[in-house]
Amino acid sequence: MSQQVPVIVLREDTERTRGRDAQRNNIMAAIVIAEAVKSALGPKGMDKMLVDSFGDITVSNDGATILKEMDVAHPAAKMVIEVAKTVDAEVGDGTTTAAILTGDLLKQAETLLDQKIHPTTIISGYRKAAAKALEVIDEVSETVDPTAPDYKKILIDVAKTSMSSKFVSTHKDTLAKLVVDAVLAIAKDVPKDEELDIDNIPRQKQVGMRVEQTELVKGLVLDKEIIHVGMPKKIEGAKIALIESALEVSKTEFDAKISITDPSAMQGFLDEEERMLKSMVEKIVEAGANVVIAQKGIDDVVQHYLAKEGIMAVRRIKKSDVERVHETTGAAIVSKIQNLTAADLGKAKIIEQRDVGDDKMLFIEGTPKSSVVTILVRGGTDHIVDEVDRALNDGLYVVRDVVMHPQITYGGGALAAEISKQLRDYAATLEGREQYAVNAFADAVESIPNTLADNAGLDPIDVIVNLRKAHTEGKVYHGIDYTKGKVGDMKAARIVEAAIVNRQVVMSAAEAAQMILKIDDVISSRGSPGMGGGPDGGGDFGDDE
Ligand code: ADP
Ligand code: MG
Repeated sequence: MSQQVPVIVLREDTERTRGRDAQRNNIMAAIVIAEAVKSALGPKGMDKMLVDSFGDITVSNDGATILKEMDVAHPAAKMVIEVAKTVDAEVGDGTTTAAILTGDLLKQAETLLDQKIHPTTIISGYRKAAAKALEVIDEVSETVDPTAPDYKKILIDVAKTSMSSKFVSTHKDTLAKLVVDAVLAIAKDVPKDEELDIDNIPRQKQVGMRVEQTELVKGLVLDKEIIHVGMPKKIEGAKIALIESALEVSKTEFDAKISITDPSAMQGFLDEEERMLKSMVEKIVEAGANVVIAQKGIDDVVQHYLAKEGIMAVRRIKKSDVERVHETTGAAIVSKIQNLTAADLGKAKIIEQRDVGDDKMLFIEGTPKSSVVTILVRGGTDHIVDEVDRALNDGLYVVRDVVMHPQITYGGGALAAEISKQLRDYAATLEGREQYAVNAFADAVESIPNTLADNAGLDPIDVIVNLRKAHTEGKVYHGIDYTKGKVGDMKAARIVEAAIVNRQVVMSAAEAAQMILKIDDVISSRGSPGMGGGPDGGGDFGDDE
């Protein structure tokens, strides 16, 4: 029996919470985040005004945006925000739903923990329930046929459903049609099994016009003006030199040690600079280019000679736009102007500067890659343009989701109610305490129609009772019909969603809930409030799972 000497492993200022306390803390934090976004869910959801540390304001109804802007310290709260970000990155919609579901899964788990059901049991029950929920999604989803006459109409319905919960929902008809046209346009050039990338639909924001003036234009549009008044404003049969380096003589190219002693040396110096600049223009002319698109600056002298040669030029183009010009026109991205040859030039039928509202923009049309489109996003103020842009983003994503994975489900809580019903049937077939966990999962899923009802000012209890009844009678598409203010057929109401969005929501929420439930020890290296964690906030600890 030796005397126990305490071994000190953790720093003195380390904060540590263990066991039930750690769990309770984590669960509470996750629930707080979920509760915060609940009122934003659905078409009747409210907007949130977010003010960052600089006092900048964002007004949004978009779950992902709200969650991203929230500055939280608690690691478990951060994990809920991670769920929303993952869902947003993967499928582009369903973020609020995912956060709410995560919170409610944990809220239900808390009750089970209070009844002394072990976390391991809850976790395994949740795993089974999630797998079952995915089966239900597959079972009730409908496959859409891209060759069917109503294909486009279904895609528009999907976009409309997604945008109906946005601040700009009054314009959803116009915007939904626009996003479908945009996605179908770029889909033309993408092989079936390849990823459709929404980033290939550039959006140029413009403040000062009406939302319904948002438009889809063929071709690539750069928010740039031609740099010199003497240059042509329109070129047909464009041959484009795409240059990455500055068309300037950088000062370091001259030896800093040159000391100029007499005026003639100074003149020689300037002549040399002019000669170098002129040779750049000669190189461009020799290659046969009539348009210069430069990522960096263009010296005044170069501008002057380019204009003299009848060559159009724009400068300081964003890197992402340079890539797009490269992809759509076939122009090589040239870093050394001395190496420019005719083979490097890109092509376009027309390049023209046009007035767009109060701005001037450069339109590049008739390129080798024909499927290029740009969306000109419009609205009266910055905040509105941003919210239109977010709505378009969601719309583009969900349409892409269905184009790539042609399965649809019905919204307004219809799918959730069906999952919940089938989970309860499934729970009854299980032995032991896992049954409780599966039932708890079913209750958590029901929080979606519950919240939708609540946000619409309907009585959630009435709605849930009627929903359960409808689903017991086999009405799998019954959800909350907002227009009638009661339970009704969502298929008839055309509240259509991408099945893959719902799959992602279930997977991400269930995973995060399980991960949080597995934690029974929180060690934070600097005693920050709550269990905020160390300098990097400790919020990333979910990543190493
Ligand atoms: P998320 O960030 O999760 O996408 P939203 O605020 O966009 O959250 O709300 C989506 C929810 O609103 C979904 O459950 C969807 O089915 C529902 N919804 C959308 N349009 C309607 C409608 N017209 N009637 C009833 N529910 C709707
Ligand atoms: Mg949405």
